[in-house]
Amino acid sequence: MKIKEILAWSISELSDFQTPRLDAELIIADILKEERLYVMINPDKQLTDKETTNIKANILLRKSNYPIHYILKKREFMGMDFEVEPDVLIPRPDTEILVEQAIYEISKRKKHKILNEKDIINVEKDDSSFQYRSYDIIGMEIGSGSGIISISLLENINELYMVAVDINDKALELTKKNAIAHNVDKRLDIRKSDLFEEVKDLKGNLDFIISNPPYIQRHIIDMLSEEIKSYEPHNALDGGDDGLDFYKAIIISSGDFLKQRGFIAFEIGYDQALSVQNLLLDEGFSDCKVVKDIAGLDRVVIAYKI
Ligand code: GLN
Repeated sequence: MKIKEILAWSISELSDFQTPRLDAELIIADILKEERLYVMINPDKQLTDKETTNIKANILLRKSNYPIHYILKKREFMGMDFEVEPDVLIPRPDTEILVEQAIYEISKRKKHKILNEKDIINVEKDDSSFQYRSYDIIGMEIGSGSGIISISLLENINELYMVAVDINDKALELTKKNAIAHNVDKRLDIRKSDLFEEVKDLKGNLDFIISNPPYIQRHIIDMLSEEIKSYEPHNALDGGDDGLDFYKAIIISSGDFLKQRGFIAFEIGYDQALSVQNLLLDEGFSDCKVVKDIAGLDRVVIAYKI
């Protein structure tokens, strides 16, 4: 078969989807190990039988609502490519707002630190696999998934050191792989930990805690699109009956781990700003800020330890 023939077949198979041509071109390019442009400008290229079979298989997989990013095994986030697998959530563009806001808050800290040299801390760690230097800023991410948040923060802020935790082995593996691919692994300490369980050594040392925890109310999960509810990991989505389980668990311990004027930055569901702010205020946090996403919905909450 020629590219133009398999493309026409693929587009008709995916005609019920929002972007049949885009999905088809990406799947064909992926099998050919080429860029999408190659598919667009080589309609008469003859494919091998094996290529044709593999493309058809992936088109039919996509037709069964399997997410395109799990087929391609990658997703772009903050202008970088990340490897993803079905054990982790596919990065959402909304999460870029969380990262951008965190970068902004961290850059304010950087300026503050230059004025107050004594604030620069030095964390020692005996684990020989990690050589902690003196880093200006130390952050922790809870529930790293594919690692997009920690890695894009590290990519943007050279003075930053991150500790990323997850309870899912596959997530830890992907975080590691993606960190190596983006060359920030020397500044990323990846630990298998249920929330703060394995990070006790960091008490009082963190400049910030960041998380995009599972926040969907359990009964809503069944109402999500087929792609999400059938294929994305529920343990990365399910925030318990009221969707707030992880915010409560994180906020209650955060005070012990943050330095004075350390901050917490959360991605939240569009209707959770008030509840999450109240949880933060109840634990003594202040200067709460809510940031909206491009759709105009509340998406990020930031608050400071007094
Ligand atoms: N924003 C994701 C969704 O709508 C949910 C992410 C999460 O629970 N952290 O599917």
